[in-house]
Amino acid sequence: MEQTLVLIKPDGVRRALIGRVISRFEDAGLQISAIKMLVPERERVGRHYTDDEAWLKSVGSKSKKAYESKGVSVTESEIDIGRRIRGQLIDYLTSGPVIAMIIEGNEAVFTVRKIVGSTEPRSADPSSIRGGLSTDSYGAADSRKSPLKNLIHASEDVKSAKDEISVWFSDREVCDYERADRSAIS
Ligand code: ADP
Repeated sequence: MEQTLVLIKPDGVRRALIGRVISRFEDAGLQISAIKMLVPERERVGRHYTDDEAWLKSVGSKSKKAYESKGVSVTESEIDIGRRIRGQLIDYLTSGPVIAMIIEGNEAVFTVRKIVGSTEPRSADPSSIRGGLSTDSYGAADSRKSPLKNLIHASEDVKSAKDEISVWFSDREVCDYERADRSAIS
């Protein structure tokens, strides 16, 4: 069974969407193997959104493409965009309570990302959590100078899931059990 890390960001907690978000994952046949609520400190969020060049560039590149597809030209480099967004994310994630959980199941990383939807709520599929429960856009986030309010973080691949789980949970916080309907799921 694969594990992935999910955070319900401060916007999701403040909008009282915790139960609905968890239900989406449980309804798909996934299970929660660890869960907690906390106001994270800057150091922890800094380890989660690492100062890694590849990650900074990928965030910058996605944002740049989104602007350019709307005919807006961007002069800032990808890495500078990534650095700016990382700083905003650290301020934002430490601004209030978040829910951290480990979600486990068959192809958990892929399945969770599919249910969560793409980064910008405005263009995310309406059947996804982000597309169906939020409306934020790159333009609105930019004018607020804050990160997209897209409710959730979900690990991008198995390697980052493993790294991110170790940022938020110790081994003894993870529960080893199986859903009663496990054999009917996959
Ligand atoms: P995802 O969370 O979909 O994996 P990324 O890893 O690219 O997306 O970005 C991390 C987070 O940074 C996003 O979930 C979003 O909250 C924020 N973000 C990314 N790009 C922007 C942007 N151009 N403006 C504001 N916030 C952004």
